[in-house]
Amino acid sequence: MKIFLDFTPCNDCKTMMNQLSSPEMVFGDEKTRTDESSKFLRHLTYNHPEIIQAVMQEVPKQKKQEEFDFFK
Ligand SMILES: [Zn+2]
Repeated sequence: MKIFLDFTPCNDCKTMMNQLSSPEMVFGDEKTRTDESSKFLRHLTYNHPEIIQAVMQEVPKQKKQEEFDFFK
């Protein structure tokens, strides 16, 4: 899932976004990517709640699809 948002990332954000877009991560296994993404999302939830709100409004469909995957 790719999201482009207009916000000012803090240093933690920058570190995690760099990690997420690094070749090891992009071509890495899915579990690692999921773990890193969740870490980033948790950080956003606690430090940039306005981002989460924007994301939820932006991608309701994708979110639903992800939830559905858990029941497969
Ligand atoms: Zn941040």
